[in-house]
Amino acid sequence: MHTTTRDELLQACDALLQPARFKDYGPNGLQVEGKAQIRRLVSGVTASRALIEAAIADGADAIVVHHGLFWRGQSGTITGWMKRRLALLLAHDINLLAYHLPLDAHPELGNNAQLGRVLELPLEAQRFGEQDLGFIGQGAFSDAQALALHVEQRLGRRVTLVDPGHARPLRRIAWCTGGAQSYFEAAIAAGADAFITGEISEPQAHLARECGVAFLACGHHATERYGAPAVAAHVAAQLGIAHRFIEIENPA
Ligand SMILES: [Zn+2]
Repeated sequence: MHTTTRDELLQACDALLQPARFKDYGPNGLQVEGKAQIRRLVSGVTASRALIEAAIADGADAIVVHHGLFWRGQSGTITGWMKRRLALLLAHDINLLAYHLPLDAHPELGNNAQLGRVLELPLEAQRFGEQDLGFIGQGAFSDAQALALHVEQRLGRRVTLVDPGHARPLRRIAWCTGGAQSYFEAAIAAGADAFITGEISEPQAHLARECGVAFLACGHHATERYGAPAVAAHVAAQLGIAHRFIEIENPA
């Protein structure tokens, strides 16, 4: 089995995802330093204790995630759940790499591009919203219910639909994965017939009905489980190391 180094792994991820281009809510790149030699890479959505334990069992030298450990606004103390996650990483000398917005945005391997692939919505060139994170694709759905049914079948889970209550076909489908409900107005301004994201808050239901644009909340985890494995598989193939995506079930 081929071996690479921590620095080569980090450089390959940074070259692919270009984190310097983004303003983000936490540090992108190496969040916890582990061993220098890397043979096995694990990817996952969130650096939860369950993922770290599964990565240890898998013999991982490094973990790549979308949701890392450190976010703006945290208390900054290493106590409770944070202590237990960090203690596991440090005890097993495992590197933790996290890429948040850069992993949403990558035009082919990111969460948004990969969700478009899973939903079979051919991408338009146009992007929308803050830092151009939102994607638009082409669809042909007779109404909002038909779109919701399609998404449910592709994602294998129930979704929350706010039906705008008209019978026009839906052709321009906008989306932004995760907790991007605040991108709804930008999607409406970009001319979308529907907007797909992970979560819903109270205002979006009213906006959907008043603006005639369907809103679908399909799960934060459920919409963001495709980018990390796509990026990690790409980088692992490039560096000749082993890779495995570990899914930690999450109802969100
Ligand atoms: Zn997220």
